[in-house]
Amino acid sequence: MRNALTIDVEEYFQAHAYEKVIDRRDWERLPARVVENTRRLLALLAENRTHATFFVLGWVAERHPTLVAEIAAAGHEIGSHGHAHELLYRQTRDEFASDLARSLAAIRRALGGADGVLGYRAPGFSLTDASLWALDVLRTHGLRYDSSLQPVDANGALRGGKRTGFSGAGRFAVRLGAGLWEFPVSTVHFAGRNWPVAGGGWFRLLPLAVTRRAIARINAEGQPAIVYLHPWELDPDEPPVPGAPALSRFRHRVNVDRTEARLRLLLAEGEFGPLRQVFAAELAS
Ligand SMILES: [Zn+2]
Repeated sequence: MRNALTIDVEEYFQAHAYEKVIDRRDWERLPARVVENTRRLLALLAENRTHATFFVLGWVAERHPTLVAEIAAAGHEIGSHGHAHELLYRQTRDEFASDLARSLAAIRRALGGADGVLGYRAPGFSLTDASLWALDVLRTHGLRYDSSLQPVDANGALRGGKRTGFSGAGRFAVRLGAGLWEFPVSTVHFAGRNWPVAGGGWFRLLPLAVTRRAIARINAEGQPAIVYLHPWELDPDEPPVPGAPALSRFRHRVNVDRTEARLRLLLAEGEFGPLRQVFAAELAS
């Protein structure tokens, strides 16, 4: 079974682990790493003849349009990660609508016209009960799917207070109506709860064997896995962030020096593709 590989294209200093110590106004003056790190990923994917979905932050697309063009030229799917990397439930509906529109416009400019963007992923998987209105905004902008749901942690206990998931959310692809699909990032149900083992810090923290077993288990349920990563997770040379609490630093940096090798092994073993391909039948229906 082909699984989905998704990459959220953003700078390391935009990660939520650092939001208490890095002011948004400082983003402009911090050393940019996203181009180099994304190119490292592109090379690794080319080596394995694998394509992925890249959810690009509008802030990045405005500053590095050639990077967006490079990703698309290599045959990958481009989606939107919004513009300013603000959690959905911290925005009003109108704020979100302009954030999304700005990101789509930046992507369209970078690609020289029609963007063909089908999908969106919210920063921090922040689609919760408090932000379900975002789905209507996605429809209004002609998007066909959302991948912002991580049905694990409605009270934020595992994620430093950051909430994900919403009540009644399932673990697998579901048609939301009016032409929109939800493709939740993968979780494994174990010991009475859902664990987000297939991406990010969990991918780096847990042994690769656990990730492999999780993917096999999801596939045994008849479903493709949806794995996610960020370019900064392949960057052992990220500049230190002064004042970052030890836990944030740990969550952001644990095993970054091993991510590339792990991903290479995972790609060599299994077939991965972009969401639009893995869920082509759903999107066509
Ligand atoms: Zn993000």
